[in-house]
Amino acid sequence: MLVVMSHSASPGDVAGVVATIRDMGYEAREIPGKQRVAIGLIGNDGKVDSGRLEALPGVLQVIHVTQPYKQVSREWRPEPTIVQLANGTRIGGPEVVLMAGPCSVESAAQILDIAPALRAAGATVLRGGAFKPRTSPYSFQGLGVEGLELLARARAETGLAIVTEAMESAMVEVVAEYADIIQIGARNMQNYPLLRRAGRTGKPVLIKRGMAATINELLLSAEYVLAEGNDQVILCERGIRGYDEHTRNVLDIAAVPVIHSLSHLPIVVDPSHGTGVRAKVAPMALAAIAAGADGLLIEVHPDPDHALSDGAQSLWPAQFEQLVAQARGVARAVGRPLMAGLTATQQS
Ligand code: PEP
Ligand code: MN
Repeated sequence: MLVVMSHSASPGDVAGVVATIRDMGYEAREIPGKQRVAIGLIGNDGKVDSGRLEALPGVLQVIHVTQPYKQVSREWRPEPTIVQLANGTRIGGPEVVLMAGPCSVESAAQILDIAPALRAAGATVLRGGAFKPRTSPYSFQGLGVEGLELLARARAETGLAIVTEAMESAMVEVVAEYADIIQIGARNMQNYPLLRRAGRTGKPVLIKRGMAATINELLLSAEYVLAEGNDQVILCERGIRGYDEHTRNVLDIAAVPVIHSLSHLPIVVDPSHGTGVRAKVAPMALAAIAAGADGLLIEVHPDPDHALSDGAQSLWPAQFEQLVAQARGVARAVGRPLMAGLTATQQS
């Protein structure tokens, strides 16, 4: 439930509403808005009797949030949430953001070779898994903390921000020490202790849609992070399980406008896992921008044929460069610029 205060409400009126909500046994969260203050009531799992609140001084309106999720909903916050990173990247604003890099961090040579190429092409965020959720226990599992160290070196050399996955709760703080954005993988979208712990770090969290998750389930997973007091959440559509074998997953492009209508959180698209096929990545990346995606998460490898994971869906650096040029045109066509790449001064 949301209690919207009138323009003329005094700080004392706001405090009165907060105190009443607490007295009713719920938590109150102040939501400062451009026009007026609202106070969110959380902690209820059903309809709350709003009579006591409606009668308080300064209260303009009480809105019952109709969705199962609250803090992630547009009803709760009409303006888009913008996730701001230290290197100037803004996710959820007017610009479309490019996040790119290998599936896994494999070696110093690999990540330190690809990072400057991605930066030069216009990416501002470097992806790369150090902890890899592999379907087979015998596949390459990632370099672990050594991989995080290599990502930090790549950031120091290029200024690119880092997005990397935290796979288990016990490692969240370690990943948070290195990452600018903590990635929660598709297989872990409903690992609620992991989501809560990632939320508590205060770092931006990118949540990938589970392979068989509905959009409401994805939004409820994001709600776990916001419930910890962290609204720096980026949603990611990465395809859901289908029955056709021509692509690895069914990339649900419609999820982009649907999520924009339901939530204030930014939504990015990962056409690499969404298709699993290198030749299909660019067309779906362009489709995602046309549909309104706030950014792309794309696998690029300096030598995809020898990649230790997901080589078949990884672009060559030159293909990424070409894709960026096309993406610029599509973004312009839908009235959104691509985020400008990092400038020379942003290189540390
Ligand atoms: C990844 O980004 O490399 C990854 C494992 O993605 P997902 O969780 O979407 O499968
Ligand atoms: Mn991958």
